[in-house]
Amino acid sequence: MQVDGRVAVVTGGSRGIGRSIVLSLLRDGAAVHYFSRSAGDSLEFFRSEVDGADVTHHAVDVSDEDAIKGAFEEILTARPGIDILVNNAGITRDGLIMRMSSEDWRSVMEINLTSAFLCSRAVARHMIKRRSGSIVNITSVVGKIGNAGQANYAASKAGLIGFTKSLARETASRNVRVNAIAPGFIETEMTDKLNDQQREQLVGQIPMGRIGAADEVASVCLFLASDASSYITGEVLTVGGGLAM
Ligand code: NDP
Repeated sequence: MQVDGRVAVVTGGSRGIGRSIVLSLLRDGAAVHYFSRSAGDSLEFFRSEVDGADVTHHAVDVSDEDAIKGAFEEILTARPGIDILVNNAGITRDGLIMRMSSEDWRSVMEINLTSAFLCSRAVARHMIKRRSGSIVNITSVVGKIGNAGQANYAASKAGLIGFTKSLARETASRNVRVNAIAPGFIETEMTDKLNDQQREQLVGQIPMGRIGAADEVASVCLFLASDASSYITGEVLTVGGGLAM
């Protein structure tokens, strides 16, 4: 996939989809810096899965602008540049609009959308200068079709799609590509919250009849991060087993 020797930054890389993305980039030979509030067992996991993995955890809360700035300064001091950025960190704070607190609105916007702006801004100048780079934003099918009880989440993910296309237009002539992945329902701690009845109902809506695996998102991310997708920018690839086709 040609990411050998590239430097990648992944937000929310400790668990779930982000963990699979970090692992697939490491397996393909990239050096990976990943952000999350805590590392948990992730560093040991990556080192046990990939011999000689060049992987670094940064304890960064992506709602903290100064922490993001500091981490990118640290990375750019240690590395010649950043080739790949994956904006993956995300949360849900579900509730019907009438009962949704302003805090639940704001925190979802900050962590899911504003963080992608801050991280992309931190790398864009370097990528443009080097005439090379790939940014992948993890949005959601919910950003395309909406979902009752997730107005904050859907707005943040739809915002991420608009952000992807706008940044892609700004950077395309400098060979910096910006794309998004819209996963459907993927087995992670985020979807663990669903009860059996919700799960059954969901699976019933998926043409492929099953929930997806984090690896199935990571492989598409590797494709978008690598030169295999060298003529693709401003796109949103849905990884949802046919959901929202
Ligand atoms: P998980 O909850 O399993 O993992 C979330 C990751 O983000 C963790 O590494 C977590 O680490 C990190 N994170 C959360 N908040 C912050 C924060 N404030 N600062 C830094 N890191 C943070 O989520 P998923 O893997 O399921 O989701 C990953 C992305 O995929 C999200 O953007 C989500 O919206 C999107 N997605 C997921 C779908 C699914 O079905 N699972 C479907 C569609 C989209 P820590 O808590 O230590 O900070």
